[in-house]
Amino acid sequence: MAGKFRLLMATQTGQKRARDEGFHSFPVDPFAIAAKHDIHIEEKPAGMQGVSGALIFAEPRPIIIYSAELENEGFERFSVAHELGHYFLPDHPDQILKAGGQHFSRAGFTEGTSSIELEADHFAAGLLMPAGLVRSHLERHQVGLEGICRLAEDAHVSLTAAAIRAAECASFPLCVVVSNGGEVRYAFSSDAFKSLGTRIFLRKGDPLPAGVTAAFNARSGNVTAARRSAGECDLKDWFDTDRHARLDEEVIGIGRYGFTLTILSSEALAEPDDDGEEDEEAVIDRWTPRFAYGR
Ligand SMILES: [Zn+2]
Repeated sequence: MAGKFRLLMATQTGQKRARDEGFHSFPVDPFAIAAKHDIHIEEKPAGMQGVSGALIFAEPRPIIIYSAELENEGFERFSVAHELGHYFLPDHPDQILKAGGQHFSRAGFTEGTSSIELEADHFAAGLLMPAGLVRSHLERHQVGLEGICRLAEDAHVSLTAAAIRAAECASFPLCVVVSNGGEVRYAFSSDAFKSLGTRIFLRKGDPLPAGVTAAFNARSGNVTAARRSAGECDLKDWFDTDRHARLDEEVIGIGRYGFTLTILSSEALAEPDDDGEEDEEAVIDRWTPRFAYGR
């Protein structure tokens, strides 16, 4: 739990930083924040391989290095925001200074990275997508992939980062699955989605159920061409539950990474209850702290 608590604190430190810097609407600009704190930013030199960015405590001022080689604005901004995490999070500058004053980062949201890397990723997600802004954005846009695409555009982040943060913040049922081939790589669900049943979770390596995502992944070229597909599924298809619930299953290929992003949602389930009644379990569930980035 200690690790998850630290990740939650990192997200909150990021969103508080956005607010303190005067960002009350999208997009939050990590380049402007760095400039304000007299941190020099430069593009990564061509020879530096396997690194998404770096923070160097140099004199007379710290330097953030970011990778522009993918020509992907969302990735660049996330990378700069990640380095700002190492600058602003408690303990990070100390740890980096003790290790010689230079920190090199790997790409965000990868598996098996160290705790300070995960904390910096959470800081970046909170900084670029503060919960309050994400929630009001989700309320104003279509439930599902279209709304998440708009969030990515407006916040200037990658589709994957927007989808994960949407699942963390959404007050309605929303599940984000990243897969490749026939298997789940990872999945994030909103609290409201988890409370659709008692065993609503997916593990790394779980097989994809027959349906829109599996069919999409089976056709070579769909993923790399960033094609889209959509259909319907049942909650029961994906999860170990007896409950039937129709869900929209929307799919998009995440280009060069060879992964597929699936959004499970339902316009009908997203509507607030008219009768004003909630079962006790749902209320308890909402008040149970959960940490959606946990894996
Ligand atoms: Zn890092």
